[in-house]
Amino acid sequence: MPDHLVHAYQSLPVSFTHGDGCYLWDNAGKQYFDALCGISVTNLGHNYPPLTAAIQEQAATLLHTSNLYSISWQQKLADLLCRSAGMDRVFFANSGAEANEAAIKLARLYGHQHDIDNPHIVVMQHGFHGRTMATLSATGSRKVQAGFEPLVSGFLRAPYDDIDAIEAIAANNRNVVAILVEPVQGEAGIVIPGRGYLQALRRICDQQNWLLMLDEVQTGMARSGKLFACQHEAVVPDVMTLAKALGNGVPVGACLCSGVAADVFQPGKHGSTFGGNPLASRAAFTVLESMLEHSIADNAAQRGQQLYDALRQGLAGNQQVAGIRHLGLLLAVEMKSPCQELVSRALQQGLLINVTAEKVIRLLPPLIIDEKQTAQLADRLVDCINHFTL
Ligand SMILES: *Cc1c(COP(=O)(O)O)cnc(C)c1O
Repeated sequence: MPDHLVHAYQSLPVSFTHGDGCYLWDNAGKQYFDALCGISVTNLGHNYPPLTAAIQEQAATLLHTSNLYSISWQQKLADLLCRSAGMDRVFFANSGAEANEAAIKLARLYGHQHDIDNPHIVVMQHGFHGRTMATLSATGSRKVQAGFEPLVSGFLRAPYDDIDAIEAIAANNRNVVAILVEPVQGEAGIVIPGRGYLQALRRICDQQNWLLMLDEVQTGMARSGKLFACQHEAVVPDVMTLAKALGNGVPVGACLCSGVAADVFQPGKHGSTFGGNPLASRAAFTVLESMLEHSIADNAAQRGQQLYDALRQGLAGNQQVAGIRHLGLLLAVEMKSPCQELVSRALQQGLLINVTAEKVIRLLPPLIIDEKQTAQLADRLVDCINHFTL
């Protein structure tokens, strides 16, 4: 068949026909353990029955009306999200990049409303916020930015997990209006900051009247062992963005805002045709409701610890392993040398994993994984990594 797709992706030579829970099957009938979840999207596993039922019912009732009318599922979802996060309002988008675009626009508007004519947002080295022009400009990776200059201005970059650097910016710059940061850097290789980092950022933002904007697109929705990663430090941000697992595969993004940030957007300032449509809203509502009802975050914390312990033990003698780290089921095995090849090796053995930042094996298994499946996954991973390096 002629190839009519833009060559934006280097796809692996496998195509899946269906999935169930932690497993996927390809068109030859081979079974795979999905330890990636479409990059932390299908956190409740594949073909999650309550979600399937909700989508089916909504598809047979009403798909779309536009934001020119009020949408009851959007209101219900906003209510549950805000109560869960301890925040005030939500703007719905369709992806992580779009949710971050909303956050960036909100921060600029907030600046102008406070007579800062050239508002700047502090972003981090190696941070990732998406592929649209503003979000790739906020992203701290030359690979993402190269070839797309001129970039969007108005971003100031600081090293991650470095409070002194933020204090220095606060002392020297009058144009900053916000910090945009991931609670754990995902694409950078599951980089977990030291304890108290978010609390220190919260304190500086309060002192400076900056907005603390957390990109929880990858860390949110129970992945880290709490519903939102900022809850590990009892920090409530002014703005928080979500997407990926919010719809468990149905595209939906959200920009939550609170306090002074909650009333920045007024009619005419932002919008989206699809954002928060009845199908996406009902799907996300069902996902969140299920996560709360079944204490999915607690399971992520417990299984994350189990997987981490098993990997530590199984890989203890492997000289090629530089380190293992995790927060809930956001887990990384960092190797001493590039290991991209491991992805296709694991694929052959029926295991879906990812390598990011060249040397980091990134594991994002489903949060519904049970104890036995976790033990099996650990065994298979240890086997795969040890065979690869020996
Ligand atoms: C994936 C990701 C994004 C981008 O989300 P898209 O839905 O691909 O636009 C933004 N921020 C973080 C932290 C991500 O992991």
